[in-house]
Amino acid sequence: MEKNKGPRLLLIPLPVQGHINPMLQLAQILHSNAFSITIIHTSFNSLNPSNYPHFNFCCIQDGISETESSTSDLLNFLIQLNTRCVKPFKECLGKLLSEEPIACLISDAMCYYTQDVATSFNLPRLVLRTSGASSFVAFTALALRGKGYIPIQESKMEDEVTELPPLRVKDLPMINTKEPDKYYEVLYNSVNKTKTSLGVIWNTFEDLESSSLATLSQQFSVPMFPIGPFHKHFPTNNNTSSCSSLIPQDQNCISWLNKHKPESVVYVSLGSLASITEEEFLEIACGLVNSDHPFLWVVRPGLVHGYEWLEPLPSGFVENIEGRGYIVKWAPQQEILAHEAIGLFWTHNGWNSTLESICEGVPMICMPCFTDQKVNARYVSHVWKVGLQLENGMERGEIEWTIRKLMEGDIEGKEIRDRALKLKEEAKVCLGLGGSSCSSLERLVAHILSLELFNFEAS
Ligand code: UDP
Repeated sequence: MEKNKGPRLLLIPLPVQGHINPMLQLAQILHSNAFSITIIHTSFNSLNPSNYPHFNFCCIQDGISETESSTSDLLNFLIQLNTRCVKPFKECLGKLLSEEPIACLISDAMCYYTQDVATSFNLPRLVLRTSGASSFVAFTALALRGKGYIPIQESKMEDEVTELPPLRVKDLPMINTKEPDKYYEVLYNSVNKTKTSLGVIWNTFEDLESSSLATLSQQFSVPMFPIGPFHKHFPTNNNTSSCSSLIPQDQNCISWLNKHKPESVVYVSLGSLASITEEEFLEIACGLVNSDHPFLWVVRPGLVHGYEWLEPLPSGFVENIEGRGYIVKWAPQQEILAHEAIGLFWTHNGWNSTLESICEGVPMICMPCFTDQKVNARYVSHVWKVGLQLENGMERGEIEWTIRKLMEGDIEGKEIRDRALKLKEEAKVCLGLGGSSCSSLERLVAHILSLELFNFEAS
């Protein structure tokens, strides 16, 4: 594939898995639309350029220390990143602009520090929002009226948020922090610098989130480009996910899945950042075993607080589940969800996981941990109705009951599975010729080219 095609775009991802994946998928989509691509990445979670010989890469030394880069304190990480990267990013941009013209910068919305730097160079900046539009409506409400919601009172958790139906107070996109004001500040900056961008790119599609996209179009006077699902612009087996994976994906689980009947296996993964307690881990283990359905379980090293990997499991657990359960450290998730043996996805509802499940028509058990996951879970269970949420935390009885309901002959379970298949079809249609995401992509390409013209005239 050619490295130098048309006008050059600079893309800057937030360096965590759930943001790197969609940014690199977007890079791939834009490269296929005749743009040249340069990815600017941090030294923390740095990318491997040899996986993408058709892109240029530029690494900035973020200077973030090991403690600051601990993504278990996401809030502190975001603050440090947005402070420490300003200087090296400025130097990097100055150098790149002195070498060749650049059409625009596409920045992750959470890298809000990029806006002022781009403005200082007169470089147009678009934003990639890697979460869904519905959660962004909630983020925007929090950012603009945050003082009214934060801090959240325990006694009000079940109350409905009247202006954000069907969210309850407990579904608001919060994180566990002793410093809610800092969280509010990060949200405010991200929303504000999205508003002042020249366009927002979404990894979603119109039919899925039309009303949230319409709300945002009214609130933000910048063009919106819902061109998702990004990963479905390419065939599932084209390796895009393994290339951008920070942890090696265990491919052996595909051979294990091949031995199972269609729609018979429960896939369990809580993504790249969430962590759980030892008690919760053991409840999951018992719930899975008691459900009597085969399961493929991603236990990421560090998932359980205070443990390296599987140590909290009772001795003999792994041997006893032989054949019926398979545990891996990290999996080729997109391939797994597309595999015919998968009948159910137990997810933390990170946006990528949610969308990947929707695209394969796989119903979900929702167990959100923080931020947008809570909104996504509510939408999965109460708007799209393609899953059920575990409302009482991780409790083995409820886990077993929910798995059985969705995997066995229950009427509600069947309705959920039928709706999941219908949504899968809608996701397919939007990418076809004349489909909404396909048209939005055409608009995006034209928009970027018009920015370039603007840039050229201004210089
Ligand atoms: N993923 C993966 N292997 C795994 C678990 C997850 O490749 O074992 C990928 C998944 O396909 C998704 C991303 O990691 O693209 C996780 O992003 P998401 O937004 O779902 O959650 P986050 O990790 O940001 O919480």
